[in-house]
Amino acid sequence: MISINPNYLKLEANYLFAEIERKVADFKDSQPDARIISLGIGDVSRPLVPAVINALHKAVDEMGHPEHFRGYGPYGGYAFLRDLIMEYDYKAHGIDIHPDEIFVSDGAKSDVGNFQELFSQKSIVAVTDPVYPVYVDSNVLAGRAGEKVDGRWSNIVYLPCTAENDFIPAFPDKTPDMIYLCCPNNPTGTTLSRKALQGWVDYARKNGCIILFDSAYEAFIRDDDVPHSIYELEGAKEVAVEFRSFSKTAGFTGLRCAYVVVPHECKVSDGKGGKVDLAGFWLRRQSTKYNGCPYIVQRAAAATYSEDGQREIKDVIRGYQNNADLLSKALQELGLTVYGGRNAPYLWVKVPNGMDSWGFFHKLLHEAALVCTPGVGFGKSGEGYVRMTSFGSPDDTQDAIKRMRQLAVAGTF
Ligand code: PLP
Repeated sequence: MISINPNYLKLEANYLFAEIERKVADFKDSQPDARIISLGIGDVSRPLVPAVINALHKAVDEMGHPEHFRGYGPYGGYAFLRDLIMEYDYKAHGIDIHPDEIFVSDGAKSDVGNFQELFSQKSIVAVTDPVYPVYVDSNVLAGRAGEKVDGRWSNIVYLPCTAENDFIPAFPDKTPDMIYLCCPNNPTGTTLSRKALQGWVDYARKNGCIILFDSAYEAFIRDDDVPHSIYELEGAKEVAVEFRSFSKTAGFTGLRCAYVVVPHECKVSDGKGGKVDLAGFWLRRQSTKYNGCPYIVQRAAAATYSEDGQREIKDVIRGYQNNADLLSKALQELGLTVYGGRNAPYLWVKVPNGMDSWGFFHKLLHEAALVCTPGVGFGKSGEGYVRMTSFGSPDDTQDAIKRMRQLAVAGTF
């Protein structure tokens, strides 16, 4: 009988979110009348903006007309969208990126998960700890991670990010080949300053590494010192691939559109003494396994760059930022230490009174019917923290704050 790929056996089912769901379900059984509020959601709650909806309607109608109908599209995305991305996301910020270095897709998850396929099996992977699990799991499936020992994969280089190092990863003892950086960060909501990121770009240039830079939360950046693109930094085009998404920028989590930037300067070894252009290989990979993001979705993404679209999506983001500000202020007033939230929809909250991540999760669930995400679920260095998000509705955010105040009054923390 044919055998399953053994790497798939190595990967546990998503333990963290399954465990949370199970605990929430048990709580519901015991307290059927409780109104649970989730501060754990990583999905948006506001609907698509009118500019996007109008563009979708128009594109759907086009698909019903013989003269406007579109079948398979270009593998890297339609020119109308790639040109807008070049213009608004790069040129407007003084960055010179050519449309043929931009590859439109159905999501940053697939892109960051798939990109590792381009590198040799022996490549050493470095990830921050805590980490967005896709970076690790996709390399486990590719057979690069080794064995899991005491919660960590033997061949993966972990870069701890904690309050002690200001959430800025130090250079590791063992030099990796692929370095995943996520800024603004999921789960910590923290960012890398221009100086810190330049340090990593210089490190990658010196050591022949590639940085896989995930900026899915770029739209949430408010501070000037946080780079919007890694290409703002000197030499980054030689060593960095950038991932962006319309999911959190414009509420496309259900519609699905994202893009990868692979500059032509970005070259890697062919293993025989020569160098190859990474962009060409990404196109090769995509044209082999993927037939492109739907036309109507790309039209919807293009609409986010219109005057109305920009105003409307920024308004939505401001709503989430407002939630983050209220949550952050309230938690700090209760004496909790809070990181992130300023340039990201995530707040990374230090658990009080020496509790651990799960202990605090239980307390919030059982005493306030609130759901958060235990930080330890994102990696060992996440122990002692929980993640809260600002993606809920304003009313739920306010109610959650009220409940936490009541807990504090009751002396819980
Ligand atoms: N990258 C990070 C860091 C994320 O947190 C997420 C989604 O939560 C993604 C990528 C996935 O984005 P998309 O919806 O475009 O697949």
